Amino acid sequence: MQSLPATEKQVNMNPTTPSEWAARIVTRHPTLAQPVALALHLAETGHVHTDGPQVQVESSDGRNTYTLRYVEATGAWLCTCPAFRYRPYYVGPVAYCKHTLARAIAARADKHHHLRVTAIHRERNRHASSDEPWTKTPVAFFTDGRHETRHAITDDQYDQLAAIATDDDYHDHDYIAYNQPIQWHDVFSEDRA
Ligand SMILES: [Zn+2]
Repeated sequence: MQSLPATEKQVNMNPTTPSEWAARIVTRHPTLAQPVALALHLAETGHVHTDGPQVQVESSDGRNTYTLRYVEATGAWLCTCPAFRYRPYYVGPVAYCKHTLARAIAARADKHHHLRVTAIHRERNRHASSDEPWTKTPVAFFTDGRHETRHAITDDQYDQLAAIATDDDYHDHDYIAYNQPIQWHDVFSEDRA
């Protein structure tokens, strides 16, 4: 059977299950096919444990547990496993291992952990009584349906979110509040081209 060119492949635009999310990541990043397959297995077999900001992923044989850490400045996740440290997979500058990919798949498939962006801003800051020029830090305000949180985001993420805003949303200079909160996974680093 002849395989279709990539542009004609069927892409599920509204993934919900772990396997649909895994397929979408592979469609966007074909070089991640192998680790995503392993990550999907980890996610589907309950090896991803999330407790608030604390995420741990068990190895498939259950012998090791790795701790994942979110880095606000980059929007990326770090893992304590040897593969992440010594031979990670890269998409652009962002490193991945099967555990961080398993977390990404599990988080997207778990509707209760879907973060939505309610507003973005570029906060001005400089040291007190300083003559240094102001700098601006892009931030986003999130809701998971229960709690509101505020995180630093990258300039790229700010630009992507600002581009989604419509005239109906509230604009005040760099501050934009969305009438309809934005699904954060649409700007997650794993999903960036
Ligand atoms: Zn890892």
